Amino acid sequence: MAEFDVDLFVIGGGSGGVRAARIAAGYGAKVMVAEECRMGGTCVIRGCVPKKLFVIGSHVHDEIEDAVGFGWSIGQVSFDWTTLVANKDKEIARLEGAYTSNVEKSGARIVKTRAVLEDTHTIRLATGEKVTAKYILIATGGAPNHGPIVPGIEHVISSNEAFHLKELPKRIVIQGGGYIALEFAGIFAGFGSDVTVIYRGDNILRGFDEDVRKHVRAEMEKRGITIITGRTVAKIDKHGRDFTTHLSDGSSIASDQVMFAIGRHPNVRGLGLETAGVAINPANGGIQVDGWSKTSVDNIYAVGDVTHRTNLTPVAIREGHAFADTVFGKRPVQVDHATIPTAVFSQPEVGTVGLTEEEARAQFSHVDIYKTDFRPIKATMSGRDTRVLMKLVVDGASDRVLGCHIVGDGAAEITQAVAIAVKMKATKADFDATIALHPTASEELVTMRTPTARHVRQAAE
Ligand code: FAD
Ligand code: NDP
Repeated sequence: MAEFDVDLFVIGGGSGGVRAARIAAGYGAKVMVAEECRMGGTCVIRGCVPKKLFVIGSHVHDEIEDAVGFGWSIGQVSFDWTTLVANKDKEIARLEGAYTSNVEKSGARIVKTRAVLEDTHTIRLATGEKVTAKYILIATGGAPNHGPIVPGIEHVISSNEAFHLKELPKRIVIQGGGYIALEFAGIFAGFGSDVTVIYRGDNILRGFDEDVRKHVRAEMEKRGITIITGRTVAKIDKHGRDFTTHLSDGSSIASDQVMFAIGRHPNVRGLGLETAGVAINPANGGIQVDGWSKTSVDNIYAVGDVTHRTNLTPVAIREGHAFADTVFGKRPVQVDHATIPTAVFSQPEVGTVGLTEEEARAQFSHVDIYKTDFRPIKATMSGRDTRVLMKLVVDGASDRVLGCHIVGDGAAEITQAVAIAVKMKATKADFDATIALHPTASEELVTMRTPTARHVRQAAE
């Protein structure tokens, strides 16, 4: 008789868990996956995918406005939120089905229930059943933070609820200045809501390049989004269907919805981690792992948002794949977390890979900046008041391109391709040797000849 019921038990059927289960099963392992909600996890059910569908839908508003300058006259247009939500739900259900069947086709078995650790080799299902496993992978993802409990917090929605609102809010207040707040600000504004963003610091997108932060803010404001900085939400009152949001400076804003997008925390509570001896990383509250995604217990691994490393889908997938290769494929792989490209699907979009100007200046003695902001060709005829930002951060000593930052239409698509060059350690000369593709916005990346700034740090005396 086998020593364990399964070779691998995966807790969580999201991006990381699904990839690990399928690859491990492909190596011949007997695999069971527990999912307490819907297969596909955050990205598919309530994250990247429905968000991108909403972004695409809300952008149509700009297309209609821009069409006029190109000779189109478009009659009365209307938008129906209920149709959008229903069609999105249909697509998400299709994807959930695809995720389920792909896992099953790989030979892994799915159990639709909550699972927690009983000890280092035993998992307890909510059904009461116990399963023993040689290896356990924790891939339970994360959930929205509510932040400090302010009076009226029960009225606040997170991104989870934003995907299922019965009606499009006419006015919405969104607290936060990161990915989710800005993406939803663009979504709601595109569909016609009056949007106010409340951010506690001096400018949105902390951690991004300073020029990107300024540019995005200015462009969002041009699109009619109000951005209030240096303040937080202190209290929310509800009167019938309306809300009054009171800010830390004593001012207040009326709206139909209030949303918080103030970060996410790893799903570690109630998992039985203490019982099994799995340590938490005190620095970030996620499960502590080494470079192999191994926890403090030898046969227990963790990948994705629950480790709170880089909370992005492709990273969770890569970590899950590397785990399966290492443990079941006899092919040890460590994930390289350096130079991960990322995009904020705000409107306009942000694409970024590598170091910001500030980070480069802290790490390198010679830093050259190549920066341009210009009116995109479409705006010349649409008349839209908008500008694109492109910026390269270059090591002045080796000529290596350290970072690329773009704000404008297509920024995410461009950044994915540029990320290959940056990861390959391409130099500015390599960029310059590439002939431009005309007329595009991204041709600027290979035609910026003169640095707009040169930073040289003097050696300490
Ligand atoms: P998840 O995908 O969260 O999966 C964890 C799964 O575990 C869930 O299905 C959960 O139900 C299940 N689970 C939890 N506990 C248990 C338990 N005890 N038993 C059984 N099942 C359990 N990333 C991008 O790269 N690009 C984007 O554009 C993007 N947009 C996003 C937009 C939003 C609104 C949000 C919230 C996130 C977005 N992300 C995006 C982040 C991305 O969704 C996550 O990084 C990714 O889903 C993490 O994958 P994971 O496998 O770690 O966890
Ligand atoms: P972010 O970390 O991106 O942003 C959180 C924002 O909330 C920051 O502006 C932060 O301010 C602010 N904040 C934090 N705590 C408080 C508080 N107590 N009171 C007021 N404001 C506060 O988190 P999100 O929730 O937007 O998204 C979570 C993660 O999901 C992202 O970090 C990303 O990893 C992933 N994601 C990725 C997407 C993509 O790839 N396009 C899209 C959506 C999510 P401060 O900066 O001052 O700390």
